[in-house]
Amino acid sequence: MSKNTFLVVANWKMNPLTLKEAERLVKNFEGGIERLNKRDFWEKINLIICPPAIYLGRLGRGKHYSLGIQNIYSETRGAFTGEIAVRMAEDAGARYALIGHSERRIHFGETDEQVNLKLHACVKSLMTPIVCVGENLEERNNGETTRVISRQIRSAFHRISILNLPKIVIAYEPVWAISTMKSGSSAEIDDPNDIMGIVILIKKVLSDIYQKDVADRVRIIYGGSVNPTNIASLLEVNTLSGVLVGGASLTVFDFLPILRKAYGREEE
Ligand code: PEP
Repeated sequence: MSKNTFLVVANWKMNPLTLKEAERLVKNFEGGIERLNKRDFWEKINLIICPPAIYLGRLGRGKHYSLGIQNIYSETRGAFTGEIAVRMAEDAGARYALIGHSERRIHFGETDEQVNLKLHACVKSLMTPIVCVGENLEERNNGETTRVISRQIRSAFHRISILNLPKIVIAYEPVWAISTMKSGSSAEIDDPNDIMGIVILIKKVLSDIYQKDVADRVRIIYGGSVNPTNIASLLEVNTLSGVLVGGASLTVFDFLPILRKAYGREEE
């Protein structure tokens, strides 16, 4: 995959409710992309679909897109009712794993330490981890964004070898900007300068832990209410390697324009 490949990660969360609907959605995405008639589409866009885990093995493995799992467990096997080991996710077709999504942290009490353990489990596999970090509204309003992001990155990467850095993706997802949190205004969400600042911060923290040249190459993507309207301003942040899309990845109507604009980003 070329280094200019732009990651578009669809996080379906706990949707849709049947496998049939999930299959239809994927089919519609593929049909829509086909109709764009861009032969180099898949060289420029790396589409990763993260459906509910139960659909992974059954959703089929796309010719072009990859599958990701929304959460994994840090242990390799054993008496952990309801959990999914990295090896199981891989076997079911997942090539990517979201780790530390804010909904896991908020609703399931996932801690920085658990995020770190999950990252360790993931880097031992062939899967690409997507580590999610981001401040909540209160932290943002209290001017704690830098401290929170730095803490989350330092904890997540504790004792992670520099050799693993090139395969790790970091998703900056401010909690207040996630569409279901409904507290951010779209003006804030769109501000490319804020996002650019956080990308710089994350690289700085990583270069303090590791070394600058390697830190600079880590792929950072943005998530939080990405939609067909604000994608253009996000694409202006040329240090971003992609986007993580939640709600807008559940309809062809919203998702295709995002894919189309991401494809044409160098021309815009
Ligand atoms: C997410 O929560 O991962 C996400 C990107 O959500 P949304 O796009 O709906 O804000």
